[in-house]
Amino acid sequence: MKHGPGPIRQALARVSEALAPGAQLVVVGGWVRDHLLGRAAGDMDLATALMPGEVMKRAKAGGLKTVPTGLQHGTVTVVSNGHGFEITTFRGDGDYRDGRHPDSVRLGVSLQEDLARRDFTINAIALPVEFLDCEKLKEKIIDPFKGQEDLERRVIRAVGDPLKRFAEDGLRPLRACRFASQLGFTIEEKTLAAIPQRLEVSAKVSVERVYVELTKLLCGLDPKTGLQLLADSGLLDLWTPELRPMIGCAQNRHHLFPVWEHTLAAVGFAVEEPALRWAALLHDVGKPSTRTVDETGGAHFYGHEARSLEITGAILARLKVGHAFTREVFALVRHHGTHPTDDWSDAACRRFLRKLSEDGLPLEAWGRFRIADQLAKGFGETENLFEHQKVMERLRRLAEAQPPLSPSALALDGKALMRLAGKRGGPWVGELQKHLLEAVLDDPRLNTAEDLRKLAQEWLKS
Ligand code: ATP
Ligand code: MG
Repeated sequence: MKHGPGPIRQALARVSEALAPGAQLVVVGGWVRDHLLGRAAGDMDLATALMPGEVMKRAKAGGLKTVPTGLQHGTVTVVSNGHGFEITTFRGDGDYRDGRHPDSVRLGVSLQEDLARRDFTINAIALPVEFLDCEKLKEKIIDPFKGQEDLERRVIRAVGDPLKRFAEDGLRPLRACRFASQLGFTIEEKTLAAIPQRLEVSAKVSVERVYVELTKLLCGLDPKTGLQLLADSGLLDLWTPELRPMIGCAQNRHHLFPVWEHTLAAVGFAVEEPALRWAALLHDVGKPSTRTVDETGGAHFYGHEARSLEITGAILARLKVGHAFTREVFALVRHHGTHPTDDWSDAACRRFLRKLSEDGLPLEAWGRFRIADQLAKGFGETENLFEHQKVMERLRRLAEAQPPLSPSALALDGKALMRLAGKRGGPWVGELQKHLLEAVLDDPRLNTAEDLRKLAQEWLKS
């Protein structure tokens, strides 16, 4: 059965109608690439030969709302049936003097010239909107730099001379590594060779843009390759020099792989969520500087979690990462080395659950991260999985009973304690709550008003 056009296509058809004639409206870049690859495509970027003022005029005349989102770059958002479409006038870039932004943009150039300013051949392709649902779509693609061939060969190749293109914008080398990870492609030889020669340009790129690309690289299909490319090309040292000592740092009998290889494996095993992938990258970054060797030749990494936290904090602050995300990564790094075993008491397990809860880390997130770390140790996979399931089942069972994990869960609140003591509030309330919480962590059955009153009275007397 043939489906009619979906709501987005219908909305787009209205835009296309309003802008005709002579608009040469095309979908360009990432969306076309992803569509050809059969990947879930992200935002649809549209381009046109019309000047922004003309886009606004014609869209309004066609009854569509417009927003001048980036007029200085030639971008207008046209809203149709509730969908916003970003439409940018074909443009060429002027000179780049700062290695980050063109000094000027020239609007009203040809589509060919617009495609020539784009970073990689696989991103320098365009599809006229009227052919979006055409059966021979591939023949309709405008592809002056043979991006489709590179898509088939799975190659990332700069448009034009890579040394020149990377001198214009230092983010492009990082984007090359990001696409290698995201798509599982290789970087063409000359494009790859140009990266180390343009590191001083890449060093000037704003950290906000770097963070976006690094996160996409980490969450890609093949982050190991992406990270190894960063290491081999020298990009790694521009923003995360602390990672370099992990390369070649040998471990101990608990691990099959050295620290860097273990880290790459952990990133690969972690679920593709930014916090988990970042935490996997950073969880052992404190190992090289805490490494000691005992008299039998065994390596130890005492206190590496704390050191990893320090370095994680420094890296995320340098990249201007937000507070909430940093907190999430911190919690994963902080608790990655905790391994509850059979000889832990229930109370000890509950104390661990309390720590997770204080750090805002759900048990399941901790579990998902731990399994990635365990698998990345490189041996005893079945055993590790089995042991991990056992640990998780026990913790889940204890968590399901909803034991009190914070003072607010106690059966007596602060006010009740003050009434009981006949005293005004003060630091003593917090201390007493801590004492009561310890007692109910040992035995949750004690969390009744009656039992807590007794315990509180004893404490107040002592
Ligand atoms: P994603 O799926 O992550 O959105 P994308 O290829 O669409 O990938 P965007 O950052 O959305 O990446 O950029 C859209 C398009 O703009 C790219 O496909 C490319 O044609 C062009 N482009 C983006 N960044 C650059 C750059 N730094 N230099 C040159 N062209 C770029
Ligand atoms: Mg995009």
